[in-house]
Amino acid sequence: MRRWLLLGATAALVAASPTGGAPAALGSGTRLAVLIVVDQMRADYLRRFAPFFGEAGFRRLTREGRVFSHARYSHLTTFTGPGHALIGSGLYGDRSGIVGNRWYSRALGRDVNCAVGPLDPSGAGKCRAEEIAGAAAGSSAGNPCNALGKSLAERVKERYPAARVIGVGLKDRSAILPPGKGADAAYWVEEGKDGPILTCSLYYPSCNDEVLAFNHEMSPNTFFGGHPERQEWSCSLPPPCEKSCPEDVPTAHEDSSGLGRSFPHPVRDVGVALSTPSGDELLESLAERVVEAHDLGHNRAGQPDVLSIGFSSTDYFGHLFGPDSCEVADGYKRLDQTLARLLTFLEKRVGKDALFLILTADHGVTPLPEVSLKRGIPAGRIELGESTRRAVGRIGDLSPLRQRMEFELARHLGVREDASTPLTRTLILGYREPSLYLNHEALDDRQVRSASSFLKSYLLHVEGIGGVYTSREIERGKAPESVRLSWRADRCGDLVIILEPGWIEMGGTGTTHGQPYEDDAWVPLLVWGAGIEPGVVSTTVDMARLAPTLAAKLGLEGAGFSRPEPLPLSPQR
Ligand SMILES: [Zn+2]
Repeated sequence: MRRWLLLGATAALVAASPTGGAPAALGSGTRLAVLIVVDQMRADYLRRFAPFFGEAGFRRLTREGRVFSHARYSHLTTFTGPGHALIGSGLYGDRSGIVGNRWYSRALGRDVNCAVGPLDPSGAGKCRAEEIAGAAAGSSAGNPCNALGKSLAERVKERYPAARVIGVGLKDRSAILPPGKGADAAYWVEEGKDGPILTCSLYYPSCNDEVLAFNHEMSPNTFFGGHPERQEWSCSLPPPCEKSCPEDVPTAHEDSSGLGRSFPHPVRDVGVALSTPSGDELLESLAERVVEAHDLGHNRAGQPDVLSIGFSSTDYFGHLFGPDSCEVADGYKRLDQTLARLLTFLEKRVGKDALFLILTADHGVTPLPEVSLKRGIPAGRIELGESTRRAVGRIGDLSPLRQRMEFELARHLGVREDASTPLTRTLILGYREPSLYLNHEALDDRQVRSASSFLKSYLLHVEGIGGVYTSREIERGKAPESVRLSWRADRCGDLVIILEPGWIEMGGTGTTHGQPYEDDAWVPLLVWGAGIEPGVVSTTVDMARLAPTLAAKLGLEGAGFSRPEPLPLSPQR
């Protein structure tokens, strides 16, 4: 695959002029703090894919920075929204309110996207205190209003009023949630009428037109470098390619995206290209544009700016092909080159002495069950969610497991139902990972309690389900910490379901994440920049300590985090 994106490379490499006037004590010399979040990067990738890396990307960070080799999330909800919210705010879902990528709002009677909250139309930077029934859930309305507690941007601006705090990502939630409330701008890519478009929203006071002009780079002609004819993603690993993925099961790859199941993958448009490593190449160019347009790292008051960057192509192709595929190996080889370009750009623009950089991931991923089974490891697929809209579907449209759950529950409660019963009248309202919501309009309080305990014992006999907790149990502290950290009564359902290790909540092909086990919960954590002594910390560290670490480095207020203790950035003697 050729590098389609030509933008930004040369114009950006202008050395920054010395700015002067910065009080030395401010942020210990840091002028730009950068948070890089790779969507769906497992902790073991750094070692597994090291043979494919050059010297200027991941290897540079591990050689010159501090490597936390055993960093993990303690929550159950190993998804993009909760992960990015924790990285920025230092708060688990019980306090950040980000209990999933989406949840069902009983108040609104509809699903809520974690990155589209109750925006106040009266002005930029304002959220409504309450969700309002009937309020639009339109696109381009992305904002951090669903996030509770003090945000990274609020902490930074409390200490440094002139600091700029900006997020950029391929997904709305990855751009919006790390800086959180009070950010100056956030830029992300949405699916528009004629393909992907770059967006900022009304919430943000400083959406920059020069950055938004980047949209031009996503037009098919520009994106494909003037060659909009059929493009493809081919394997760049040492030949023969298959040698780098000996245990993979390509027949279990997902091909609904139009990429097909194996190399070379046809790339018919820009939307599909975002699911290939080219998407993160595009994002890197966009990040350069953001740094230039907002002149990050050189603010006149000498105060530190903060930029978060969310690479997400890795998640798209990771879901399609799984962690043992040559596609993922090749994708990280290419991401390493993209990262090298970003580091080179930042160093030239801001200077290493003025940079503080953290690279991590929002979650990992579970192998394709077909790969685990081939290795003799127990694994499987389970389908708890709905693929049909509630307004139009019938019970017969649900997965076989969901139909059995519904009919058994109806029998238990003495309610008549059959396959033709509309989904609007079911006793189980829906499943939004990891919560099962009962239909509170059809059931009174006593029936909800009875249905909860009935379903709990029913589900505990289903192969692949490892644990089920009712809301009453969680509220009384009778659930594991991973569940308690992911739970809020006002946003979660009546039951929380955990799978057995190796199992995924996904039918068909491809794979996913969202469980509290090593595959999904352990991620890389690299800290790099001026004054950071190289070394490896191999004790287990909680990912909630990332935000206090950034706070300590920048001299911000350090109270109110889920885990207040910063990570050790110099060798312990
Ligand atoms: Zn994902």
